[in-house]
Amino acid sequence: MRYYTIEKDGAERTAVSADGKNLYILPQFSDMNDLICRGGVSEIPEDAQAVGPDSKILSPIPRPKQDVLCLGINYAAHAVEADRFSSEAFGGDRPYPIFFSKRVNYSQGPDAGIPSYRGLVDSLDYECELGVIIGKDAKNVKMEDAAEYIFGYTIVNDVSARNLQTRHKQWYFGKSLDGFTPMGPCIVTADEFSFPPKIGISCLVNGEVRQDSNTGNLIAGIAEIISILSEGMTLQAGTIIATGTPSGVGMGMTPPTFLNEGDVVECRIEGIGSLRNIVC
Ligand code: MG
Repeated sequence: MRYYTIEKDGAERTAVSADGKNLYILPQFSDMNDLICRGGVSEIPEDAQAVGPDSKILSPIPRPKQDVLCLGINYAAHAVEADRFSSEAFGGDRPYPIFFSKRVNYSQGPDAGIPSYRGLVDSLDYECELGVIIGKDAKNVKMEDAAEYIFGYTIVNDVSARNLQTRHKQWYFGKSLDGFTPMGPCIVTADEFSFPPKIGISCLVNGEVRQDSNTGNLIAGIAEIISILSEGMTLQAGTIIATGTPSGVGMGMTPPTFLNEGDVVECRIEGIGSLRNIVC
């Protein structure tokens, strides 16, 4: 199944689709977090109301219950390019995964703007990532059991202000500005993928392919991430984990090339879809 949050008649509604084309409203859920906690639906209800063309697709989880958990430097080729940009910020040995988080007051969906923060940010960058959505509270989960805790997957653009990320040492602020976490277009349930999913992940800027990899290249895999984190913290249902970005971000280019107003950023993940946003 594919789950969407849509705006219809000025209200946010949850919707479901089996094919990604025909969407149906699910009035029994108050929002996506409610739907996740209750396990979604096993089939599209016979009396479901079809979504018309007058609706707009939002981020599947516009208001995450908690900060988004993120992996840093989790693709080998991205480690090389990040170290080249700033070895002080990104270099060194990493025997364990890097975890950090993003505050997300509001996640915008497809076609929404990414604010450029002219005057505050001089190095706006994109990071296309596979987002893992936890489906039930997870504590002390063994790697071999991790798949049972995954509700589904989405696309996350972990937008980053490199100047803020590096000057404040901690990455939190430079990752957490309002509008820095577009997600979408939907959550595809875990049963639609083998585990772990090995699917194409790419990002285009103004139509030019910048990132092109496969989630099979993750350094810390999804099961390992869930197992390590849940050993010490409960991952509540609805938790979003951004699993890290492949090489090809703007800071990795020679010379570094950052986003400007008007640029179109399109994140694509095989089997999920496309998340396209415009820098404004
Ligand atoms: Mg990232």
